[in-house]
Amino acid sequence: MPGKEVAILRIGHRPERDQRVTTHVGLTARALGAKGMYLAASDKGVVESIADVAGRWGGEFFCENDVKWRSCIKAWKADGGVVVHLTMYGLNLPDVIGDIRPHDKILVIVGAEKVPGDIYGLADYNVAVTGQPHSEISSLALFLDHLFSGAELKNEFPGAQIRIIPSKAGKQTEGP
Ligand code: SAM
Repeated sequence: MPGKEVAILRIGHRPERDQRVTTHVGLTARALGAKGMYLAASDKGVVESIADVAGRWGGEFFCENDVKWRSCIKAWKADGGVVVHLTMYGLNLPDVIGDIRPHDKILVIVGAEKVPGDIYGLADYNVAVTGQPHSEISSLALFLDHLFSGAELKNEFPGAQIRIIPSKAGKQTEGP
């Protein structure tokens, strides 16, 4: 989204079981206006899948493999960014989104399993998307939609090789 730098920090990824969910975290982030994802694990397959989609469907989205989550948070803050941790234990989204929205540089942390306890203290905002357990994909999607007030649904993806022509029925695309 113009004017905002939003990236995701994905922690707790287990290559043997989280590949699909982590790929979908990245694709959701990309589709809904984030600039990239830091993966706090090594999984080149996930990074390649996301890069493949980004290459064909346009726009710019980075995916960085094997980052150290502590250094990533530290560097983000040192660069003037704020850190949002999505957790059902946090303050409910509608109560805090107004404080978060004015920030231009936002790192959004999502977990897989239980996240390290330090994350709660390192985050500037611990944000719940309801106080009910669900998923990193749904919580991220709702968070981004609230952050961008729905404007991300009209995003353009320059340089796309393939583009969908919205149709009432059937499938229409442009490109190879
Ligand atoms: N049981 C784990 C724990 O205690 O942290 C949560 C696992 S959940 C499948 C994986 C991730 O989804 C969490 O780390 C969090 O980022 C996100 N998540 C799940 N439910 C959420 C909610 N209600 N609000 C915000 N984030 C949520």
